[in-house]
Amino acid sequence: MIRILALLLLSLCLPVQAEWHNATWDSMGTRATLEFWHNGGESDAVTASVKQEFDRLQHLLSPWIEESELARFNALDADIVMTVSREFHLLLKRSAYYADISNGAFDITFAGAGHLYDYRAGIAPDDVRLQQARIGMRYLRIGDDWSVAKTDSAVRIDLGGIAKGYAIDRAVALLHQAGIEHAYISLGGDSYVMGQRNDRLWQVGIRHPRSEQAVAITLPLTDIAVSTSGDYERFFVRDGEHVHHILNPKTGKPAGELSSVTVLAAAGMDADALSTTLFVLGIEKGMALANQLADVSAIMIDLHGKVYYSDDLGSAD
Ligand code: ADP
Ligand code: MG
Repeated sequence: MIRILALLLLSLCLPVQAEWHNATWDSMGTRATLEFWHNGGESDAVTASVKQEFDRLQHLLSPWIEESELARFNALDADIVMTVSREFHLLLKRSAYYADISNGAFDITFAGAGHLYDYRAGIAPDDVRLQQARIGMRYLRIGDDWSVAKTDSAVRIDLGGIAKGYAIDRAVALLHQAGIEHAYISLGGDSYVMGQRNDRLWQVGIRHPRSEQAVAITLPLTDIAVSTSGDYERFFVRDGEHVHHILNPKTGKPAGELSSVTVLAAAGMDADALSTTLFVLGIEKGMALANQLADVSAIMIDLHGKVYYSDDLGSAD
């Protein structure tokens, strides 16, 4: 009798079979994918917490949602001080850092030109309107006491080059909190791979810039953020030229030399900002910056399909 009871107890203690869980949904203006290895019944709650987090960030950072912190900042008149959340402040500070080290190639005030484009309708602004745009981090005042202001009412910002990477970091934190060790999370071109896929490393594919189905390069990776910026995400073609959504803040026009840039870094926020930054800087300056930064790898594909690797990946060529 005792033996039967012991067996019964033992079977009750056995963990529920672990398995892969998958979810795909639309968030932050793009497609989100989550895959994780988990045992037990709380997997739906894990997925729900990541969805909820992305929704929360969208309501904080979207330029299209009138009451978002970002939209409220954009609507602000010159020299009016706004006290912002720590999260918003962190993203502004990190953006200012990338503007600094890239000599303004990454600049969230690019939105002064960015909002004049309508990629779906195939509309690009003329030179006169571009010249009137107020672009430059000098127009922003980012105080250490969470206060922000602008020096010209026309200044607007957009965090599209960094927000999705930050959202990925938040998702990774939630997955860790839930005790998950093996996962893949992606939001458009930003992703993170955690642990392994079964008994091998994650195989992260960088898509071919001119073919939606073809994979140009596959990288075996673990515990790292991967961000790809491509000229194929949002664009229209005019006279054979890709008019796309990564703008050179100096001209207000699409950055020209590359068709995709992939950056690997520890944090999604950094990988995201850097993929946009290197895209604007181009092959020579972009690779020089990638090589100068610790624990950052870069892969670039130019307009002719030629692939470039940062020095640490050089042997992969
Ligand atoms: P996505 O995943 O949306 O393709 P990317 O990492 O490629 O994101 O970044 C492109 C986005 O970054 C644009 O949609 C825009 O919101 C923003 N952006 C474009 N040019 C710049 C720039 N020079 N500096 C900062 N952000 C930019
Ligand atoms: Mg980016």
